Amino acid sequence: MSTKFVFVTGGVSSSLGKGIFCASLGRILEDQQLRVTIQKLDPYINVDPGTMNPYEHGEVYVTEDGAETDLDLGHYERFLGIATSQANNVTTGRVYSEVITKERAGDYLGKTVQVVPHIIDEIKRCILALAESGDYDVVLAEIGGTVGDIESQPYLEAIRQLRYELGPGNTLSVHLTLVPFLAAAGELKSKPTQHSVKTLLSYGLQPDLLVCRTEKPLDGDLRRKIALFCNVELRAVIEALDAETIYEVPVLLEEQGVGRLVLDRLNLSAASGPGVAAWQAFVERIKYPQAAVRIALVGKYVEHQDAYKSISESFILAGAECGVCVEVEYIRSDHVTAENASTVFEGVAGILVAPGFGSRGINGKIAAAGYARRKDVPFFGICLGLQCAIVEFARNVCGWEGAHSTEFNPQSPHPVIDIMEDQKLISDKGGTMRLGAYSCRLKQGSRVHQIYGLLEVQERHRHRYEVNNRLLGTLEGKGLAVVGVNPERNLVEIVELPDKRWFVGVQFHPEYRSIVGRPHPLFLSFVEACRAYAGAAAVRPVVRHKKAGQLAEVIGS
Ligand code: GLN
Repeated sequence: MSTKFVFVTGGVSSSLGKGIFCASLGRILEDQQLRVTIQKLDPYINVDPGTMNPYEHGEVYVTEDGAETDLDLGHYERFLGIATSQANNVTTGRVYSEVITKERAGDYLGKTVQVVPHIIDEIKRCILALAESGDYDVVLAEIGGTVGDIESQPYLEAIRQLRYELGPGNTLSVHLTLVPFLAAAGELKSKPTQHSVKTLLSYGLQPDLLVCRTEKPLDGDLRRKIALFCNVELRAVIEALDAETIYEVPVLLEEQGVGRLVLDRLNLSAASGPGVAAWQAFVERIKYPQAAVRIALVGKYVEHQDAYKSISESFILAGAECGVCVEVEYIRSDHVTAENASTVFEGVAGILVAPGFGSRGINGKIAAAGYARRKDVPFFGICLGLQCAIVEFARNVCGWEGAHSTEFNPQSPHPVIDIMEDQKLISDKGGTMRLGAYSCRLKQGSRVHQIYGLLEVQERHRHRYEVNNRLLGTLEGKGLAVVGVNPERNLVEIVELPDKRWFVGVQFHPEYRSIVGRPHPLFLSFVEACRAYAGAAAVRPVVRHKKAGQLAEVIGS
């Protein structure tokens, strides 16, 4: 069977949830025993989002092969349980860079290099490349941005050409649009959708499926009107109501027969797998948890809800497995001091110090780690979070005043965290960190060995600085246990304080490896430890969950 392509565009407004829709449709198709992958095509000029500020772009998601990518790839991996790679995230910057490299190499000798055909051809090559391995029955390609934007035009032209070249039955065009409710008129309005489809038609693309984001259910008349004016089959006008949790979207789409429709249009046969029931049970666990625990996430970018996406989703996935709703309390690191820590963290069942770059808020992160250590509150330090815990330990347990990471004080008398030797000569910022999956050998009998149930694991990295092995002996002598080490380069990957109830720091990013039904073992264990620490206070009857990851309505609290 040749690979089929589903192209997903968005209209009317940004932030309609194309990524979640693609992940959900991918999951539905996977449940039909199809091999699916999803690609994100981003129309910006950056080669990748790795150099962007989290306020600008949200989280940077890192793949096994070390690509710094759009956070939608995180949704794809979590929903589908697949590994993505650099090939799953294409940007305009990457496309141009490739074309310009070929031009310099003389590959187009004699020709004027132009958007049409060279840029369009390169976009088509990137889309088709995923299918070349023969590993996929269906490739979903999500086009970032909104139809009508100047920068997405080459992508729409590439899709138009591919639809023509691959022929009927091999591609599908899905358009995600907004049907707003006008309170003054008391009505849902279809006009923006009609205009958006007209714009899409002006690029030569007729949608096969219209997915209508709406706050209120679409009635029959409105569906018929949209179908008639947008030239789509009535059953292909899909309602996408705001969901209580993103994980419910596959269920809501399946209730409208989206899977069947897509299979019919692509001439694929159905072979329903066991996944749907399991998925539904998982959604029920998210919606109706038995208990709630409050965990503080200390970070620099907490005002931007997408900056810690994989961490907050990891909490939801771990909570679902142990019947707990994790209420993440986002705390700005520059608001925390050693003096106010007991007020800031009052009543929290655990503290997670988040990854990050740059000095703003660094003292707050160090203070948070210190508070967790002294009060024996469950503590999870990720990347910079581990580095802050080590700085705190060096200063306050080893008595090394001025101990620091050389990222923040290059002259520190006790540089417990230092830049890697091979990083010292690197001046380019893009794609030059220690990135992607590396192996980590665990210490026999340690807490993390018990948690993973393995002696060697693979985890994904994104950092330039490392624990300084030269100073490690003293730290270990004072009780810091090194329980995970990279065997190739003898780099510290995991530390623990074994005399605490749960105090773990990791140099890697476990949040990139949480999957629906298979949360990362460290997140699961941390949430369980927080629940145990909160004790009876956590075991409150939760009546109804309002929104995943946020507050629950609780009786008697
Ligand atoms: N800034 C630190 C480093 O580069 C930590 C990075 C991170 O938390 N991802 O090592």
